[in-house]
Amino acid sequence: MDSSQFREAAQGAIEDIINYYDNIADRPVLPSIAPGYLHHLLPDGPPEESESWSKIRSDIDRVIMPGLTHWQSPKYMAFFPCNSSFPGMLGEMYSGAFNAAAFNWICSPAVTELETIVMDWVAQLLGLPECYLSKGEGGGIIQGTASEVVVTCVVAARERILRRKFAHLPEGEDKMDQMAEMRGKLVALGSEHAHSSTQKAAIIAGTRYRSVPAPRSTNFSVAAAALRRTIEECKAKGLEPFYFTATIGSTATCAVDDLSGIAELAKDYPDLWIHVDAAYAGSALVCPEYQHLCPPLATFDSFNFNLHKWLLVNFDCSAFFIKKRRDLIDTFSITPSYLRNQFTDSGLVTDYRDWQIPLGRRFRSLKVWFVLRTYGVNGLRTFIRKHIKLSEYFHGLVESREDLFGVITGPDFALTTFQVKPFIPSSTAAANEPDPRHEAYTNDFTHDAEARYLEDANKVTKEVCEKINSKGEFFLTGTVVCGVYVI
Ligand code: PLP
Repeated sequence: MDSSQFREAAQGAIEDIINYYDNIADRPVLPSIAPGYLHHLLPDGPPEESESWSKIRSDIDRVIMPGLTHWQSPKYMAFFPCNSSFPGMLGEMYSGAFNAAAFNWICSPAVTELETIVMDWVAQLLGLPECYLSKGEGGGIIQGTASEVVVTCVVAARERILRRKFAHLPEGEDKMDQMAEMRGKLVALGSEHAHSSTQKAAIIAGTRYRSVPAPRSTNFSVAAAALRRTIEECKAKGLEPFYFTATIGSTATCAVDDLSGIAELAKDYPDLWIHVDAAYAGSALVCPEYQHLCPPLATFDSFNFNLHKWLLVNFDCSAFFIKKRRDLIDTFSITPSYLRNQFTDSGLVTDYRDWQIPLGRRFRSLKVWFVLRTYGVNGLRTFIRKHIKLSEYFHGLVESREDLFGVITGPDFALTTFQVKPFIPSSTAAANEPDPRHEAYTNDFTHDAEARYLEDANKVTKEVCEKINSKGEFFLTGTVVCGVYVI
């Protein structure tokens, strides 16, 4: 494809994308194909000869569209969102054009320097404590996903505690043996409702994992006392808790852990790396009315949120802020001769490869820069507030039908979770015959009746969720929190 063919193809692609967005609300959210559908539509191997762009383009409609789940549809309500925007897409386009694996500053200074500046803008936008700005000992880096951030933190935390505990020993076999022995005792901690990425990170880092109880009585958030209990239980067994994921906006219910209490507790456990995962809800911190959550972050080690979830930056874009960048560099900086250069040696530049697990990195800051400038601070606040208003409206609708639904949590950020009640309300029961179970539930307050109610409510809520999804028009997520199945 030469540049004039590219011009024509790209103009057509832009038209396709605009049409897709203009009409997305008319499509069912979920595809109606069966697993393996694509095998029937594609040949067994790549073409021997070149194919025309017009033929390739037509396969978007024929082959790809039938198998797409339309995440950008207004009827998509599953998981957390994955917002996109036209300026975000333009950022992806230029990034694709410049196509650099910019691991060192010299590999493309604009990639590094824009990222540093834009991450400082984002830190200010969210009202993060000053320690996360690049002018001090901290700073921000963009990673692909929250899961990558959490793995990075767990590995860096593991190495940090080992460095600290054995700093007094001379290098050598004996030190390595003692470190290996301690590695087997390290425990990463996360709320029982923390995203599964913390447990996965512990597996990758080769450490143990324990969950901290976060019961319904604390609205599914981790109380500092519960964290302390888990830490002490681990220590009593000779184990060493070295890492904890606190959450702003847990995956199931958008719970916020007791950040102030945990910040107090942190003073007693200086070797515990505390990371705050705000993958979804962190975007709400652009609004001053949510920034009261920020001050405790100054006590913790790191923080992340996904701009690709709720801040209009196309996937992938997880902002990762670290209080002391040395904690990353001391773990991840390995400089063989082929990565050395005068700028790295001068110490005057940032080489982001030293802050992360992979070497190469994409030019993600472009799309953040485009979005921040196109919307401005006020535009982003308006966007978030609109979603929160919609969620309050939705919550009101659910509550207004208490004959059918029971709210379990929310509205928290833009999430309400609810159950479907397991009886037919008398007003809508066939032939005016109330479901006999209704009376059984309401007249019998014994433990057995409660358990039976929950079992029936879980069953019917799951059935309703599956039935809605099976029609494909909307897409919802069901999950289980502390034994309660919620939509
Ligand atoms: N953390 C939380 C709180 C989440 O809700 C999610 C996903 O929804 C993740 C982490 C994982 O996000 P990612 O796909 O960016 O790894």
